[in-house]
Amino acid sequence: MNHRVPSNCRYQPTEYEHAANCATHALWILPSILGSSILYILSDDQWETISAWIYGFGLSSLFIVSTIFHTISWKKRHLRTVEHCLHMFDRMVIYFFIAASYAPWLNLRELGPWASHMRWIIWIMASIGTVYVFFFHERTCCRESLLPRAASLCRRYKLVELVCYVIMGFFPALVILSMPNRDGLPELVAGGFFYCLGMVFFKSDGRIPFAHAIWHLFVAIGAGIHYYAIWRYLYRPLDASEPR
Ligand SMILES: [Zn+2]
Repeated sequence: MNHRVPSNCRYQPTEYEHAANCATHALWILPSILGSSILYILSDDQWETISAWIYGFGLSSLFIVSTIFHTISWKKRHLRTVEHCLHMFDRMVIYFFIAASYAPWLNLRELGPWASHMRWIIWIMASIGTVYVFFFHERTCCRESLLPRAASLCRRYKLVELVCYVIMGFFPALVILSMPNRDGLPELVAGGFFYCLGMVFFKSDGRIPFAHAIWHLFVAIGAGIHYYAIWRYLYRPLDASEPR
């Protein structure tokens, strides 16, 4: 593990940590594509197919973009602009991944007249998050760290970014709670719990060895539980003996 850096700078992982960061998300690329294909095959109607595409795309992109970003920041550190763009892309994909994770529930479950607006609101939220990342992501970070004002601005941007992820992660859950059919809710809560627990490691670079790789693992566990719930409650064909 390397030394901790000021909160307005980016932590530089060791060689082993870089490798772990790549491996812990690369491992899930193939399963996420396979899992998405299974949902696509199980789709019975147009909305199930569309939702399988959206969810599958969000899920696979998360692992693919993260793996590419971590590989470039490990092996091609000199390509600073490319690395910066990929880092922004890595952060943007998280917003779309969250929206895509909610999409099957919002599209395929019965919703009340107000709650149904969440179907498009999540995409507006993801777009706002993306624009925010584009304009503010690490803008004033480190390079101008000698200026105390720039450093404090950077810290504030990072905090807002984290708050945006939390709002995006929890706000649509209010709609899910209002659904008449609550099957799958325990799994959704369990997945959310792992994401939240993972955030402790996300913020622990330089304090806990391999903190970012551990964060990746928590993301994979959360995504795995959510995938299971989507497969089981929204796509799996029911046995004749099961109540409908
Ligand atoms: Zn990462």
